[in-house]
Amino acid sequence: MKKIVVVGAGICGLTAAYKLTKAGYKVLVVEKEGNSGGLARSFRYNGYTFDIGPHRLYTKVPQVSNFINDILKEKIIIPRKSGIYLFSKYLDWPLSPSDIFRLPVNILIKTCVDLILQKKMEPNNFKEYVSNRYTKTLYKCFFENYTLKFLKADPKKVHKYWAKIALERAAIDEKLNTNSLSELIYTMFLRKNTIKFIYPINGIDTFPNKISAAIEEYGGKILTNKEIDKIICADQKIESISISGKEEKIDDIIWTGSIHAISKLLNLPKPRLDYLNTVLYNFEIDTEIENKYQWCYFSDKDIPFVRITNYSMFSKYNSPKGTTALCAEVTCPEKDSVWNNPEQLVEKIKTEMLKLGIINQIKHIKALHIEKINEAYPILYLNYETNLAEANSRLKTYRNLYMAGRTGLFWYNNMDHSIINGLNVAEKIIG
Ligand SMILES: Cc1cc2nc3c(=O)[nH]c(=O)nc-3n(C[C@H](O)[C@H](O)[C@H](O)COP(=O)(O)OP(=O)(O)OC[C@H]3O[C@@H](n4cnc5c(N)ncnc54)[C@H](O)[C@@H]3O)c2cc1C
Repeated sequence: MKKIVVVGAGICGLTAAYKLTKAGYKVLVVEKEGNSGGLARSFRYNGYTFDIGPHRLYTKVPQVSNFINDILKEKIIIPRKSGIYLFSKYLDWPLSPSDIFRLPVNILIKTCVDLILQKKMEPNNFKEYVSNRYTKTLYKCFFENYTLKFLKADPKKVHKYWAKIALERAAIDEKLNTNSLSELIYTMFLRKNTIKFIYPINGIDTFPNKISAAIEEYGGKILTNKEIDKIICADQKIESISISGKEEKIDDIIWTGSIHAISKLLNLPKPRLDYLNTVLYNFEIDTEIENKYQWCYFSDKDIPFVRITNYSMFSKYNSPKGTTALCAEVTCPEKDSVWNNPEQLVEKIKTEMLKLGIINQIKHIKALHIEKINEAYPILYLNYETNLAEANSRLKTYRNLYMAGRTGLFWYNNMDHSIINGLNVAEKIIG
């Protein structure tokens, strides 16, 4: 049987490995972290469970829902309850009809004038895409500051695709047609959010953990805390790999890690692409909190976090009864001082959480655990497509290398996309 090495035990790598082991292939999954899940892993301490930001499953594709149902037997169905903090108020996001009347009157008038005067034009970047669809006024009020804070990049230099994905994701609706202004107004202002999401009973990592268990049951092997240290090629084919100095012959390799890491192993030039990291400040709160949102976005530059997530609102099993698992998320590039010293923000985050009414008293913070997540988002600058094509053109010359997954394809995607991608890559190998 052919020997396949899958690099990365995220959703994509695990899905591919599952399908291949089930088909009888000899599969080895190599994961650099201590456990499976990739960006869909969870952190557990003292009965509290924290995912990496808000994570829930949603799909309309039967192939993906069949896979989820095969793997995840015990799950709950949850609605979406998300918000934004704007004009010193908490508002539903997407905005609910009652929230429209809580916006400052001058903003409402300006938005209406924008809607009437606005000319449709082909957008060239994030700023133009959002202004076109949500009006210049709303762009200025929220999206500009949020993007500057989140990506640390000028929205004029960010690709319109980032806006398209982010906006469509914020307003998931089966009937949504984002090309029509009237549909968009309907979605933003009048739509009742009826979409439901799938969540495991306790922590999103239950899903990848179940896939891992199934892989091992079928005879596949998962190595954690390990990386490939050398790749040996002949005639543009990867012949063998070395892990901790031990060489192994392989037939095919699926790579879901970063494009930089594989390029380095193959002695190729460094791709001109940047990923964004995120730092999670996971708080054990010894009381229930009154916040009505599963997660809430904060665009104000003086507030240190971009998002607060309350995991106890995803599942009551994510924290002991009467307590809350709360996360403040701060995105940052690799070289940012926050990445190197995340402790510097702790006191400011606590003070802001108190000021914003997220917690009532500092004494309710029982413990804090800081987790640093590498390569959480691809940064889609204006020229990213050209730079990605350049990197891929070099990687594509290796006959038995399959690049896959969110990080491997430099793809701003969701878990359901990674599942499809994993299934497709496995099918390609099976032929
Ligand atoms: C904050 C946040 C919120 C999200 N919310 C949602 C949501 O609500 N719903 C949804 O569907 N999706 C959501 N997503 C997206 C979802 O997490 C991803 O689409 C999915 O987990 C990607 O899986 P993947 O396997 O393709 O990639 P990854 O998860 O990136 O997996 C890559 C794996 O490779 C490993 N690796 C990297 N380099 C190496 C190496 N050199 N050697 C060995 N291993 C290596 C990594 O550790 C990782 O385990 C969210 C993402 C983020 C960051």
